[in-house]
Amino acid sequence: MRLVLLGPPGAGKGTQAMGIVEKYNTPHISTGDIFRKNIKENTELGLEAKSYMDKGLLVPDELVVKIVKDRLEEPDCKDGFLLDGFPRTVVQADALDEELKEMGIALDNVINIEVPSTELIKRAIGRRICKSCGDTFHIEFNKPKKEGICDNCSGELFQREDDTEETVSKRIEVYNEQTQPLIDYYEKKGIIINIDGTQSIDKVFEEIVNKLESK
Ligand code: ADP
Ligand code: ADP
Ligand code: ZN
Repeated sequence: MRLVLLGPPGAGKGTQAMGIVEKYNTPHISTGDIFRKNIKENTELGLEAKSYMDKGLLVPDELVVKIVKDRLEEPDCKDGFLLDGFPRTVVQADALDEELKEMGIALDNVINIEVPSTELIKRAIGRRICKSCGDTFHIEFNKPKKEGICDNCSGELFQREDDTEETVSKRIEVYNEQTQPLIDYYEKKGIIINIDGTQSIDKVFEEIVNKLESK
């Protein structure tokens, strides 16, 4: 399946991606993860991306589009993929469309996870991520068994630098302006699946799977 996960920051895209890629055995392409990996490794791309990410702004389209195009051309994406956090602008969505057309394929579904802003801020501020395996927890809603330690691999949990109240509010504003129009964009193509993201993590997953399989 060729899928896109759409939704505001903190909606639960990364959390649901873990279950989806396991169930459907597809590669998980998270542009945010790609940037964070580059920042950690001090690459030129990482340095450039960081200046935008720290402010809660989007990284310029040209940079993001190039990375995703290269990734989609890798052989493991041949039978499907899950894009998480891309596209985020109409320019990116058009570029994706064109790339897929060139490859002779198309998106099957766009999963749109809906959560109100007040909840998003709580989710993002309490988010904790494993340094080793990248698994995501929440200090209140998805507590690790041992505080500060990953359930999966016993790695150390950390808080993302851009998960402050100020930056998250900015990211929500940027989402409303630049990313929300994509809901309409994909609705017109008839491939949007709307999901109530306020439910528990398991219920959200159940709704995603049910809707994907009843299409
Ligand atoms: P996104 O990738 O959309 O930014 P994440 O998947 O990282 O979002 O989730 C943001 C935070 O909210 C994480 O701490 C995660 O554990 C928590 N979370 C995810 N889904 C739910 C849910 N359905 N209910 C409560 N908390 C959730
Ligand atoms: P979240 O879902 O919590 O917003 P992500 O990990 O998807 O977090 O993104 C973190 C940051 O990385 C964004 O605020 C943005 O600066 C940058 N980024 C990620 N994906 C894109 C994209 N497709 N276009 C532009 N910037 C992006
Ligand atoms: Zn871990």
